[in-house]
Amino acid sequence: MRSAQSFNLLKFRMHKPFEADKLKIDKDRPGLTLKMIQAHFKLYEGYVKKTNEIQEKIDGADKSEANGVYSMIGELKRQETFAVNGMKLHEVYFGHLSGDGEPKGELVKMIEKDFDSLDEWKLDMVTTAICARGWAILAFDFRDNRLHNYGSDSHNVGAVWGAIPVIVLDVYEHAYAMDYGIDRKPYLDAFFKNLDWGFANNIIKEYDLLAKHAS
Ligand code: FE
Repeated sequence: MRSAQSFNLLKFRMHKPFEADKLKIDKDRPGLTLKMIQAHFKLYEGYVKKTNEIQEKIDGADKSEANGVYSMIGELKRQETFAVNGMKLHEVYFGHLSGDGEPKGELVKMIEKDFDSLDEWKLDMVTTAICARGWAILAFDFRDNRLHNYGSDSHNVGAVWGAIPVIVLDVYEHAYAMDYGIDRKPYLDAFFKNLDWGFANNIIKEYDLLAKHAS
């Protein structure tokens, strides 16, 4: 059994800091101004910075003060999931925001199998996006090896474990208010017009989801 002294001496492996992606967009997109996209991207960069800051502080935090009501380590743990999910979800969102909107690849066949048709899927995705306060996410869930449209009210509220985001739609007001005010629906149209299906299909390939989907 490990002694208390040796436990205290145990060093956790320090986290390697995350590096922010670079914005691939340098001009207005159909229905989305560059000014709005750049302002939004700054928020993403903030999530990467805060993820690094929080994880570094967790590495050096006093674990003995842990408390369910309030403690510094408790707050760091609470905000870590917000920052990490904020980072990851925006990386998919911006990753697939500069395409031609043309559905293609194996993902289309997977969607047609799980939602009957592309139109049915899109209707459900848009419905999710109107209801959600944060995100609408097409995710491949390893529990049943199929696709689901999950809604999430915040980066760390409604996140589903064991599921890979494939298409990520940001519906926070910051994603569209500069161009559309409080009018979300035209922003949703613009999102689908700019969706890079090739990027989403690369996620399918990266995690070998087609083979799992068929099993
Ligand atoms: Fe956002």
